[in-house]
Amino acid sequence: MTFPPIREELRGLEPYGAPQLDVPVQLNTNENPYGPSEACVADIAASVAEAARGLHRYPDREHVALRAALADYLARDTPHGIGVEQVWAANGSNEVMLQLLQAFGGPGRSALSFAPTYSMYPEYARDTSTEWVQGRREDDFSLDLDAAAALVREHRPSVVLLPSPNNPTGTALPPEAVTVLCEAAASYEPQGLVVVDEAYGEFRRAGVPSALELLPTHRNLVVTRTMSKAFAAAGLRLGYLAADPAICDAIRVVRLPYHLSAVTQAAALAALRHAPELLGKVDNLRAERDRTVTWLREQGLQVAESDANFVLFGAFADRHAVWQGLLDHGVLVREVGPPGWLRVSIGTPEEMAAFQQALADVLAHVT
Ligand code: PMP
Repeated sequence: MTFPPIREELRGLEPYGAPQLDVPVQLNTNENPYGPSEACVADIAASVAEAARGLHRYPDREHVALRAALADYLARDTPHGIGVEQVWAANGSNEVMLQLLQAFGGPGRSALSFAPTYSMYPEYARDTSTEWVQGRREDDFSLDLDAAAALVREHRPSVVLLPSPNNPTGTALPPEAVTVLCEAAASYEPQGLVVVDEAYGEFRRAGVPSALELLPTHRNLVVTRTMSKAFAAAGLRLGYLAADPAICDAIRVVRLPYHLSAVTQAAALAALRHAPELLGKVDNLRAERDRTVTWLREQGLQVAESDANFVLFGAFADRHAVWQGLLDHGVLVREVGPPGWLRVSIGTPEEMAAFQQALADVLAHVT
């Protein structure tokens, strides 16, 4: 007898997640290494205390105040403005994308992305019984736009997931890529949505525009963001999207009632009031990333171009030995991506110095 009687396609599967090990230098989950200031902590605590007084009531199901604050924040990245009715939030951008697949995927429909990419995408598809179609990236992890558009026209997916910058490679997409794929996905009926996952959007290099600018041009475009990375609030669990209001309305059909707790809404609003401080370290992290790329190349390693707060490097004959060697030095990186590559998140200058020292030592000993 099979117990528990789990869905057949889930039987024996391991839950997704990076190892949570207690080591001195944790550079494995693309977190922001800088915590909030005491002023921000105090503001969050006061806001949560206020929310606690009303916990006998359900929270605002439509989280309007929070959506308005997020719309204001997003408006910095587009000359066209963002309205509150264009914004939707949930518990992390993972939940936002799962809700998108619940509303727009499902049996008889498909979702498509280009590997190597974020390994949760096929899981959203699996969990919503959506067929998963995987295209591929070029050797430098960019997209061949003609081939990508042809694949979309061939499979007619309901949802195309396009991370920019991509995880685990760090590669950002040029605006033409978004345009070409939005047009390809609008060429069949019912048309597909193109979800540009900008979880790492704030870390992009100067001159790379956000896909938010293209929202007025493509009704089938969705841009997702998160407070987990640039906002230094991974523990808050707050992700959000901007899209046509009709797309937000469709998600409202599938979301659980009151999915965002009063505590989450209060804490997120307070964190947003401290946006300049929380985002203040993004420039430092970008500079540290560029220094890390240069240093890794100086060691003779291959390094993917990065517009994110992490860097993919390799290629090692035995990447697990390198990963283990780094761990033995108290440095945790991520064993992810194409065979032979490792991904390091950008930490403080001290953490990156520890990483460099450890890697230099490991490379001297591992052949
Ligand atoms: N998209 C990408 C590309 C990611 O790497 C991550 C987190 N690692 C997420 C989305 C989800 O982030 P969160 O749920 O914390 O918003």
